[in-house]
Amino acid sequence: MFEKVLIANRGEIALRIHRACREMGIQTVAVHSTADSDAMYVRLADESVCIGPPPARDSYLNIPAILSAATIAGADAIHPGYGFLSENARFAELAEEHGFTFIGPTPEHIRTMGDKIVAKQTAAALGLPLVPGSPGPVESIEEIKALGDKIGWPVLIKAVAGGGGRGMKVVESADQAEEAFNLARQEAIAAFGNGAMYVEKYLPHPRHIEVQILGDTHGNAVHLGERDCSLQRRHQKVLEETPSPALNKEMRDYIGNLAADAVRKMGYRGAGTLEFLFQDGQFYFIEMNTRLQVEHPITEAITGIDLVREQLRIAAGEPLGFTQEDIVFSGHAIECRVNAENPETFVPCPGRVTDYHTPGGLGIRVDSGLYAGYKMPPYYDSMVAKLIVSGNSRNECLMRLRRALEEYVIGGIETTIPLHQRIIAQPAFIDGAYDIHWLERLVGLKK
Ligand code: ADP
Repeated sequence: MFEKVLIANRGEIALRIHRACREMGIQTVAVHSTADSDAMYVRLADESVCIGPPPARDSYLNIPAILSAATIAGADAIHPGYGFLSENARFAELAEEHGFTFIGPTPEHIRTMGDKIVAKQTAAALGLPLVPGSPGPVESIEEIKALGDKIGWPVLIKAVAGGGGRGMKVVESADQAEEAFNLARQEAIAAFGNGAMYVEKYLPHPRHIEVQILGDTHGNAVHLGERDCSLQRRHQKVLEETPSPALNKEMRDYIGNLAADAVRKMGYRGAGTLEFLFQDGQFYFIEMNTRLQVEHPITEAITGIDLVREQLRIAAGEPLGFTQEDIVFSGHAIECRVNAENPETFVPCPGRVTDYHTPGGLGIRVDSGLYAGYKMPPYYDSMVAKLIVSGNSRNECLMRLRRALEEYVIGGIETTIPLHQRIIAQPAFIDGAYDIHWLERLVGLKK
């Protein structure tokens, strides 16, 4: 096992990784920008190295600075967390070239799944069902029009290098194709420096259901069930739950085994997530994330498996400590992403946290770097905490979540806690009857 791990990330996920390392007797090295000197994860790590000024491109995305920090600190492995460099194949490659173990999949697998078209072709070859669409990138408006006429309107134009829902446009009919294509392409170039686009049939009312998988370097792979992440605003997940209220055991086993078989055939190493849209009883693969996900704790809550610990064990070359039959799904879990935003306008509002009190009791977990007096810098993502609640049943989980949200005090900044309170009071949410558009209708973004 590793002696010292450098955590190439910030915020709650840096803290999450530190915790797993600590429990395994592994020393941690935090890296931080000048804006994060007072962050909780920096305080708790065994060592910390300042890697640059506040803008992420100069610090958390600064590969030479991070590799230098790992060298100076004498780390033997690097955990990239999520976001930032976690799906950067070049970073994974350079880390290994410099003698550090990259805690994640091989650079080849990151590259394959990072290109959405190659990912879909790979998924199809592995036997996963796809959304109908273009077999490769689309080059012209005529091509989009012909495809729309063939598979049926509306279609969705998506960026090959996509992520975070950027560079995505719905096209209702042929006469909108040109404008949508140009807009989506511009957005993709601005966000990813890559204007390659592809087209998919637009599903009108799907749920977003993803499967957590783990693969080791000994040819084993398992699934840890699904997460329903249909509650989204602007394609960003807001609240996630497991099990999905839309699946029965048969469907869960079907999609879980399909996902585990696919990654076993790939020889995939580490944690990963296969994302599907689910509509009218059918699953459609949309992408694979080759890293730990923000919403991983709900899976941990119902399986009792520490996913970061497993990532570390797999990276160290150890075999999975369990088989598919050993994994028991028990109860229900929900995660609320708490953002420092106005709960109605969603305008980010960083600032100083004056009071801080977390909910507690059975079935409550809070992953956050917040503390009273913490000054949240304005440069990064607005998610400041994750409240993860579990219970024996969905109903128990919902009742517990309601009281946990009541107890949670974050003073001095606005947060989306009132939004979560509003969501869980809706009859449709209580019934589990929602799709990916439901939340945008609730907050008035969509009719
Ligand atoms: P990104 O990598 O940018 O997150 P995804 O392909 O994962 O892009 O899609 C993000 C979200 O966009 C999905 O969770 C879903 O809400 C919506 N979406 C993606 N593809 C389709 C589709 N074909 N039809 C309808 N909605 C879609």
